[in-house]
Amino acid sequence: MGAGVRSGGSNGVRRITNEVRIGLVMIGGGLDGLREPNPVAVQSMCDTDTNDIEASVAQIGRLREAGCRIVRLTTQGMCEVESMREITRRVREAWPDVALVADVHFQPAVALALAGVVDKVRINPGNYGDPAKNGAFAELVDRCRETGTAIRIGVNHGSLSGDVEAMVAGAMEFLKVCRERNFDQVVVSMKASGVSVMVEAYRKLVEAMDAETKAGRPMKYPMHLGVTEAGNGLEGRMKSAVGIGALLVDGIGDTIRVSLTEPPENEIPVAQAILQACGLDSSRAEFIACPGCGRTLFELGPVLERVKAATAHLGGLKIAVMGCIVNGPGEMADADYGYVGAGPGRVTLYRGREVVKRDIADTEALEALLDLLRGDGHEC
Ligand code: SF4
Repeated sequence: MGAGVRSGGSNGVRRITNEVRIGLVMIGGGLDGLREPNPVAVQSMCDTDTNDIEASVAQIGRLREAGCRIVRLTTQGMCEVESMREITRRVREAWPDVALVADVHFQPAVALALAGVVDKVRINPGNYGDPAKNGAFAELVDRCRETGTAIRIGVNHGSLSGDVEAMVAGAMEFLKVCRERNFDQVVVSMKASGVSVMVEAYRKLVEAMDAETKAGRPMKYPMHLGVTEAGNGLEGRMKSAVGIGALLVDGIGDTIRVSLTEPPENEIPVAQAILQACGLDSSRAEFIACPGCGRTLFELGPVLERVKAATAHLGGLKIAVMGCIVNGPGEMADADYGYVGAGPGRVTLYRGREVVKRDIADTEALEALLDLLRGDGHEC
């Protein structure tokens, strides 16, 4: 992901946050008012044994190939810390654009040992007790500041007393420690397996942070979005699309992970499709197409596939394929180009709302559309 991503959200505005550096990937941002927040980054997690360095590096390569630039690996103990050191060395050499994250549960000493080894450490706040009384989290924050390592405070529904209020209160305790120690390289997540709980938890955390900011104690940490234990197949994809999408259209979210009980490479196209549906990724063309009905004047499905195959690479464009002229032109009003049924076997082409080629034979219409695009300076 990267080029061509624009600010989205229901009102076209993304929440402004601290900019967090995770290796070469920048998350959030926009506080200076000069630049937009960074593109929403897609991330995933290896399902390999971290101590199987060959398999882990190979999977990171496949994830990168699919378009992922932040990859997390589980790091249970000191043996895995040493494996992460070697994985980081190899990945930085082969693919310096990939940022690595260590996922730590249970052992604060393991998180501490990873500062400076990886680009970001994800901790479960449930393993730290009260961060104001227990110095382990403050020690991690200081070590991460010294080593240029980011932290994700990964709150899970269930790991902090179970309800949304407790999740938000718990996250805020940890964020306050970060703020007190002038550490702003923090990302926070509020995952749950229930979509409505997850959406509510993120919204309430944003409200709590905004209240702090209004009170003169700024708190603008970026968000990592995800629905945890979403399952697989259509159901898993729908849960992530609804949960992550609901927040993205509100302008909340700076990095996303679609969790699927499938090879992690499968998560990346789903994440990219969610970003595009939310208006946050214009690196590929967006297609508007009617479902077809009794008025449809050509074979809509195959034609849409052919148009997509020939033009999907044209980032930033909206291209409409509509079955008839009765409703088509009105419903595709914000498309840049339109391919619209004009009569049996006949097609009319539009540039915006303007008819540019009328009543062409459908056998010639795709080539005519490509000619029109080429004439307008698009490479196809
Ligand atoms: S645009 Fe025309 S063909 Fe397509 S669904 Fe609407 S009425 Fe039917």
